[in-house]
Amino acid sequence: MQRRNFLSLGLSGLFGQVLGKSNGNIIKNTPIVISTWEHGVDANKAAWEVLSKNGRALDAVEIGVKVSEADPKITTVGYGGYPDRDGRVTLDACIMDEHSNCGSVAFLEHIMHPISVARLVMEKTPHVMLVGEGALDFALKNGFQKQNLLTPEAEKAWKNWLKDAKYEPIINFENNHDTIGMLALDAQGNLSGACTTSGMAWKMHGRVGDSPIIGAGLYVDNEVGAACATGVGEAVIRTVGSHLVVELMRQGKSPEKACKAAVERIMKRFKGFEKIQVGFLALNKKGEFGAYCIQKGFNYAVYSQKINNQLFDGKSAL
Ligand code: ASP
Repeated sequence: MQRRNFLSLGLSGLFGQVLGKSNGNIIKNTPIVISTWEHGVDANKAAWEVLSKNGRALDAVEIGVKVSEADPKITTVGYGGYPDRDGRVTLDACIMDEHSNCGSVAFLEHIMHPISVARLVMEKTPHVMLVGEGALDFALKNGFQKQNLLTPEAEKAWKNWLKDAKYEPIINFENNHDTIGMLALDAQGNLSGACTTSGMAWKMHGRVGDSPIIGAGLYVDNEVGAACATGVGEAVIRTVGSHLVVELMRQGKSPEKACKAAVERIMKRFKGFEKIQVGFLALNKKGEFGAYCIQKGFNYAVYSQKINNQLFDGKSAL
């Protein structure tokens, strides 16, 4: 619950604003990286290493989210992620670049860095998505090592849950799901995004959320902007949430207003939305960013020349 100790930085004036003007031209807020939740802070640091040296946004987002994937303390992503209700850690991830190339893996077991497998799917196959055993075979053939991703702490938490588990997928908005979604705009003005998760804790075996689904958990359009989602994936898939946010930005909405409209769409369509969390994060081509969520409690980290990897609260509907 630590991540719910929100920082009130009084920086809301920065939301959706351009950061300067010169000769009537907007000075773009580039490079910039933004990512979901407090674990985004460490991930952003790694991404910034790439961006601040004029590196490509695609490399930045991959390197960034790998930090969360490898961190056993983060129980919602990669190694150390909480397992499904059968005790198996199954991972979902996707990546998208400035040319609308994209790659994705879902229901992948035993691989510490699903995001890098997703990138290889994008770069080395004619496909977008590989799942389950096929994704694992592909990863192993490409040099990835099989590892046990279930840490003793995650196993203990799962066994605890089993004691009085109703054996139903839990739709909860606290602490059992917190994907990392990361969006970056590089010094060349190109956008990319990455999204990776162990999904909802104690989910049904085989369940896949929004995070590996291009358009739902992540979407990038280099002409307009990029968006990613966190929260209950079923609600995000039903509204193709991240694609919706990008399309709303295309129609002229600011990142925050686009995220808000997408959240409102979910609230209109999803019975029982009061009990779930969904948050969207968006970045446009000018480096403006914003977020919006259903419940209070969503935060995100921003790193740019002007913003030193600070946490912001996402505004919420409730
Ligand atoms: N969206 C993820 C899923 O439904 C979980 C999360 O972001 O918290 O699998």
